[in-house]
Amino acid sequence: MAAHQEKKVAEERKHQNMQNDTKASQGQWGRAWEVDWFSLASILFLLMFAPLIVYYFIMSCAQYQCSLTDPLLDLLTGNKHLSDIWNRTPTLTYRAAGIYSLWVTFQVFLYVGIPDFCHKFLPGYVGGVQEGAVTPAGVVNKYEINGLQAWIITHVLWFANASCFHFFSPTIIFDNWIPLLWCANILGYAVSTFAMIKGYFFPTNAEDCKFTGNFFYDYMMGIEFNPRIGKWFDFKLFFNGRPGIVAWTLINLSFAAKQQELYGEVTNSMILVNVLQGIYVLDFFWNEAWYLKTIDICHDHFGWYLGWGDCVWLPYLYTLQGLYLVYHPVQLCTAHALGVLVLGLLGYYIFRMTNHQKDLFRRTNGNCRIWGKKPQYIECSYTSVDGTKYYSKLLTSGFWGWARHFNYTGDLMGSLAYCLACGFEHILPYFYIVYMTILLTHRCLRDEHRCCSKYGKDWKRYTAAVPHRLLPGIF
Ligand code: NDP
Repeated sequence: MAAHQEKKVAEERKHQNMQNDTKASQGQWGRAWEVDWFSLASILFLLMFAPLIVYYFIMSCAQYQCSLTDPLLDLLTGNKHLSDIWNRTPTLTYRAAGIYSLWVTFQVFLYVGIPDFCHKFLPGYVGGVQEGAVTPAGVVNKYEINGLQAWIITHVLWFANASCFHFFSPTIIFDNWIPLLWCANILGYAVSTFAMIKGYFFPTNAEDCKFTGNFFYDYMMGIEFNPRIGKWFDFKLFFNGRPGIVAWTLINLSFAAKQQELYGEVTNSMILVNVLQGIYVLDFFWNEAWYLKTIDICHDHFGWYLGWGDCVWLPYLYTLQGLYLVYHPVQLCTAHALGVLVLGLLGYYIFRMTNHQKDLFRRTNGNCRIWGKKPQYIECSYTSVDGTKYYSKLLTSGFWGWARHFNYTGDLMGSLAYCLACGFEHILPYFYIVYMTILLTHRCLRDEHRCCSKYGKDWKRYTAAVPHRLLPGIF
């Protein structure tokens, strides 16, 4: 009886709120509608320089043994001209174009052609058709979660080729690394441009599109929220997971194979990088359904940032440690190797447990136990574009009581471990931790700005209850 009355009161409250306060807040919690000068400047900078940054890192390894300063010194002292460096850079080849086209086509086939069967026999794995979060327009998309299956099939074929068939050398990725970079760029630009045109002329869901009126901002940050072709080919899920993340572990394996070919052994640092990043990648696919609830899918629109980023930035810069170790085969002493392993695993544990706690809490609507106790939380509400008022909860127990983004802290610890595996001779392998620190700090601020617009005063109550972002007592 009491429950019935509560439900009725809630219904009435919802109806009243729909009439009273919808227009004020509707649509305010998605991507920005207005572009400030700082965002525009950052976007123009990235559009102009991000491809050059990727080229600079890869070229430094190929031509300067991974020294980031030598190319600059050569240019500044007039020892070399830009044209000298450019002329020594491998061009796009038919072979690379063939490999890349085959790779992307195969991943598209695995994504749309083979429905998930892993969830039928792997206990605890969530795959098959799953629902994403409510979009700002109030849409709930369905996704075919089959990334783990695609990863397994791809890797089984890779190992079958390396050990039995020998159709191609496992060093194939390293051997074509720069020609493949041109292919990745072509795809990255093509898909971002297509997404922009599609947003204007044939969007999947017009109500979830955002036009700021600034061409560069829209190109970079995307117009469409969830662009799709047909019912199932989702741009965000495909491009972020495959070809980028499936490739990540293959790229590392190819680098390890190159070490073996060049030096007759694979160093412990290379094994550490392969294992730690392998765990991270497998974790991603094991939890692909959870990934539907992360910022990339839930809040970011699909533009150059995701399209080009997934095709070029991710596979080329996230794998710098393995590339570096081909040129500098570091053999770590046992204490150093153990330290890296412990830091990497601890970081991974924190990253996974923090994400798991939020996922469990949200999935069970708070009816779960966090660290053996009933979770504590803050009740909050928000309104979608169509004026519907939704109720939600913000967890303040477990790692979420320590800091508001402790999952990022774990991620950063793991990222640092990959870098430390490369020793201390060069700064190039440390790019990853610098980049991840900037990315996750910025993400943290971006997410909080969005959550503040979405939840209003409820968010303020939450930040008062959990005052720090990444490090308890510090930041
Ligand atoms: P989160 O998984 O932390 O998701 C943030 C969202 O969770 C918020 O927008 C909010 O969404 C909700 N939320 C925030 N606080 C709470 C709370 N206390 N209780 C319940 N829900 C809350 O962030 P990301 O999606 O950015 O990251 C997911 C993981 O991916 C992280 O571990 C991160 O480290 C990793 N990552 C890795 C990257 C890489 O390149 N390697 C890049 C980006 C992320 P809502 O609107 O639903 O309330």
